[in-house]
Amino acid sequence: MIADAYLRTLEDARFVLPGSYGRGIPVWQDAGLRAARRLVSAFESALGQWWSPRTVEHPFLMPAAEYQQVFDDYTNVYETVVPEAGGSFVLAPDNMPASVGWLREHGGEDPLVAVGGLLRMLPGGAQPLFRDRHIWPAVQVTHLVGEQDALDELESHRAALTRLHELLCLPVMTVSTGSLASYGRTTWLMVSCLPDGRPTVTATLYVMSGHYRDRLLAGREVIDVGFTGKLLALVALHHRDASGLVLPSVLADTQVGVLAGAEDRRLRERCAQQARGDIRVRTVDPGPRQSTRRRAERRLLREGVPLVVGERPGGPRVARRHPLRRADLPALPDPGTLRGELAAHDDRLGRTAADRFAAGLREAGRLVARCGGCAATGKEEIFGRTVPEVSARCGTCGAPGSEVLLGGRFY
Ligand SMILES: [Zn+2]
Repeated sequence: MIADAYLRTLEDARFVLPGSYGRGIPVWQDAGLRAARRLVSAFESALGQWWSPRTVEHPFLMPAAEYQQVFDDYTNVYETVVPEAGGSFVLAPDNMPASVGWLREHGGEDPLVAVGGLLRMLPGGAQPLFRDRHIWPAVQVTHLVGEQDALDELESHRAALTRLHELLCLPVMTVSTGSLASYGRTTWLMVSCLPDGRPTVTATLYVMSGHYRDRLLAGREVIDVGFTGKLLALVALHHRDASGLVLPSVLADTQVGVLAGAEDRRLRERCAQQARGDIRVRTVDPGPRQSTRRRAERRLLREGVPLVVGERPGGPRVARRHPLRRADLPALPDPGTLRGELAAHDDRLGRTAADRFAAGLREAGRLVARCGGCAATGKEEIFGRTVPEVSARCGTCGAPGSEVLLGGRFY
């Protein structure tokens, strides 16, 4: 189980409504929808370094027969009969069959990004954004590649996802595992951690097994890459301070909140100038009194705004996050200063999370080195081998080996 504090943080920031529509169906609010859009577009721009990806959202209903052709033994999706549409349909199922169909029709060497929700049967309890009946946002990349290129292309996908984690200020490593061999010919799992250091899987990368490749009628190797809104939950778990959610700058709709009344003309002009640049600034009139000013600031902080700037009789002042610290500024900040502040902000978030990752994986003895012989004894459950491989002397016998992540139950 994961303590629900992250959910309170997301509720206070108006990402999701308190409560749900039903077990495992979180209700998203505007701020959460906007952050999810920023998450997807950050990923698209990461992919853009290698390819020109297309993004689609597939229909909610998929003919059950078509789905069954690929996933013949599915038991985890909802099915319904729509007489006027001529038969049985599955509801918001896995995107891969539809995406491969799209790629076969339209051709192209670039990956296809399917964004939307997935509906899954949910036996047992829900853990919002970790384990849901309505999984949203679900981002699934399908890429048809030549057999010779499959691993190189998978490596580029790994790099794009690593970049996404960096932008979210979340630590991550990749492990290769053979435990899902019937699904992936090559299976890589990206692993980050919870604040207490327990590992958690944040993204999956597969070169699909021959079984599925043949059933998909792709004619080529099929790469399948996916992640979900769990990344936003992980952001809320790691990045918060006494005032609530602290967003990494890439997700923040407002990167710099400015408290400026009509009389703060200098500050207003400066902000207008910045808003024309590449920094997302929002100006809020805090009202005349100290109490209303405090309240306005608190509201911005609770929404996750990274920086709040205001002007007081003594001069301009900034509130930095994580932890919350207020400081006087020598002058009204120019765009260069604000960019530097935002970079330092992301750096602070990233470093704290990276320390937890190091403590949880390496120092707690989950990330260790094993030689082939010791790994094969089966005495320990090995979750996977580090990608790219890291050579190191076996921690058990001292023979040449490589880094592995030991298993256990992961959320
Ligand atoms: Zn050994």
